[in-house]
Amino acid sequence: MPELPEVEVTRLSFADRIAGARILALRVGKPLRWPLFPVLGHSADDLVGRTVTEVRRRGKYLLLDMSEGILLIHLGMSGRLIFSNAALPLAGAHDHFDLQTTQGTLRLHDPRRFGAVVYAESEEAPIAQKLLANLGVEPFGDAFTMDYFYKSIHQRKSPIKQVLLSGQPVVGVGNIYASEALFHAALRPQTLASRISRPRADKLHAAILRVLQNALDLGGSTLRDFANAHGEDGHFQLQAAVYDRAGLPCHVCLVPIKTIRQGQRSTFYCANCQRP
Ligand SMILES: [Zn+2]
Repeated sequence: MPELPEVEVTRLSFADRIAGARILALRVGKPLRWPLFPVLGHSADDLVGRTVTEVRRRGKYLLLDMSEGILLIHLGMSGRLIFSNAALPLAGAHDHFDLQTTQGTLRLHDPRRFGAVVYAESEEAPIAQKLLANLGVEPFGDAFTMDYFYKSIHQRKSPIKQVLLSGQPVVGVGNIYASEALFHAALRPQTLASRISRPRADKLHAAILRVLQNALDLGGSTLRDFANAHGEDGHFQLQAAVYDRAGLPCHVCLVPIKTIRQGQRSTFYCANCQRP
């Protein structure tokens, strides 16, 4: 599943190249998670002639700003965006959205169709707010301070891994990055968030930033369905300390990595290096 670093790498791979492009046509394939035009009175034809001004990211949503209105794009479980200024092959069975512009075509390839492209009149429109308003703070934003992080987790009586996966207090710490950050902070995933001391919370805060930054630097993870908008695979998975390494020796202490289920997700940790 594409996580925040993959989404950000995808954004960086085409944001500059699509900025200033005029929309020539839209092609919509099979239905995605939500309809492109959830509000009656808009159609694909309305978007033709508008200019793409900027591509931003909020959580795992890409916000494609146009001269009028925005498109919110989510990659779901298996979505991949391709932007090409050369002619793309005819849309295949899993290509469900094409935005054809004067500077190239943006295509969403999404075999499982949990992704979505949604039009909103603005970021403040109710449909956009429904998707964006409850997101936690951005990990690389000014609001994600050590104070804020400690206070947020201190109120939560769930295991810290679950708290991180909830997207609150911070967005972008999905299953891989939560497992990795907890390893680097030497914290067991089962530890109740409310019982984590300030020094350990600070260590986890730093580990989250380091793990996400590392993933961004490496171009996102190589998880099965992900490739960035140039079609290149990332390399993060090769660097994982615990994620998907059940039974393999810990890189630090050589004790086999354990795996447990938490809230229907697999968690990986080293019972020797990570303490409750
Ligand atoms: Zn270890």
